[in-house]
Amino acid sequence: MAVPKKRTSKSARNMRRSHHALKATNSVECPNCGEPKLPHHLCAACGHYDGRAVIKSKKSA
Ligand SMILES: [Zn+2]
Repeated sequence: MAVPKKRTSKSARNMRRSHHALKATNSVECPNCGEPKLPHHLCAACGHYDGRAVIKSKKSA
């Protein structure tokens, strides 16, 4: 197993972690039901994509 020769300083550790923040996911409104959905993804609420029902849904509009 590789063992570090020097202890990483708080500064170096924190600079490394400066890139670890999560970004909020992008979302668009479903043109069929108005629910927020991921772009280029099937709508989880109504099962529509590209103006047609791809999967059957209980609350399909
Ligand atoms: Zn929808």
